[in-house]
Amino acid sequence: MLGFRLAVGAAYLQARRRRFGSRDELLAWQQARLRGVLQRAGRRFPYYRTVGSDDLASYPIIDKAEFLDHFAELNQLGLPLQDCLDAARKAEAERRFDTTLQGVSVGLSSGTSGRQGVFLTSPSERARWAGTMLAKALPDGLRRGTRVALVLRAGGPLYAAVEGPVAFRFLDLYAPLDQLTAELEAFRPTILAAPPGVLDLLADRLRARPGSVYSIADVLDPDVAQRVERGFGVPVGQIYQATEGFLGITCRRGRVHLNEDLAVIEEDPVAPGRFSPIITDLYRQTQAIIRYRLSDVLVEGVPCGCGSPLRSIERIEGRADDVLRLHRTDGTPTPVFADLIRGAVLGVPGVRDFTATQDAEDRIVLTVDPAERWDAAAAALVEALRRSGLVAPTIVREPYVTPDPTAKRRRVSRTW
Ligand SMILES: [Zn+2]
Repeated sequence: MLGFRLAVGAAYLQARRRRFGSRDELLAWQQARLRGVLQRAGRRFPYYRTVGSDDLASYPIIDKAEFLDHFAELNQLGLPLQDCLDAARKAEAERRFDTTLQGVSVGLSSGTSGRQGVFLTSPSERARWAGTMLAKALPDGLRRGTRVALVLRAGGPLYAAVEGPVAFRFLDLYAPLDQLTAELEAFRPTILAAPPGVLDLLADRLRARPGSVYSIADVLDPDVAQRVERGFGVPVGQIYQATEGFLGITCRRGRVHLNEDLAVIEEDPVAPGRFSPIITDLYRQTQAIIRYRLSDVLVEGVPCGCGSPLRSIERIEGRADDVLRLHRTDGTPTPVFADLIRGAVLGVPGVRDFTATQDAEDRIVLTVDPAERWDAAAAALVEALRRSGLVAPTIVREPYVTPDPTAKRRRVSRTW
């Protein structure tokens, strides 16, 4: 544990020192580091044995399905997927945060759709994660007495409580809310990171007042952000974290910057101004994350005035399957992003929450809380779609169900 603490401290210092005077400096550093990663890839991972190049463009872009199909060839220990899945599911069932296989931690990916994945991390990778996170979440530096509480699902990518000048506490997302609240009251975090649905619930209940609040692991909608900020009395930042890596964090101006000091992030355009990130991790060694395409949709941003050379984005829109597919009045199919739907429905006075699910080519199932605002919400949605030149689909009414705060929360989704 002492070793782990030292490693966290070392990663913290390294991340703080790793400052780039300009974007050119950052890109030059990235390229040098990337060359090393690619030169080792062929030796380390059988999947890349035949690529043998230090030119990123010659590597295939892989997605989750491909990654899982070739799981054993893409991790350094050659661990088979099934063994890792079994271990991770057992850990989740037992609510443990410390399951390892051959010395590496095994975490289940919390994907909202598709096959369940699993991610492997070594102790030094977890220490780097924690140290880097601290360096980025505390731009003014570490103070004695910093206490970081992370509310995550067990079997997630990192575990182990770390005590010392900085205390880390990992709290189980699936714990009953009363228990979670009591644990947080006792721990009195100075930094609290939790999924937005949990922050939303805690904002009214928690007497402990963390100095910084971060939303993690799920899309933070503007209306939820507002409620959380009102409740805690501090701005809510965002940590863009996937099991695939720590991908971005809010700066002091409130904009999310991508962690290009940890990964090369290529853009796969999905619509004008929107892209899915293709990540190549510059530090992870247990598993190869080389040109791994996430299904997230990010909205490009304007340059941020905070001076960071890391690219900033406007927002994280959600997963690709949160994008609806409707038709223009001239018949052309077109993607419809969640913000249009969200803006229309939440713009109706009195609407607190909703879900919109496209389950057929010309059908959206809409649930609204409170129920008496359903008609107005449906009318507003149809109107917004028509104004955007779209053929409005049939809107079907279903009763609103209070969401499970531990579930991945998606207001807008497409099952068709
Ligand atoms: Zn900034």
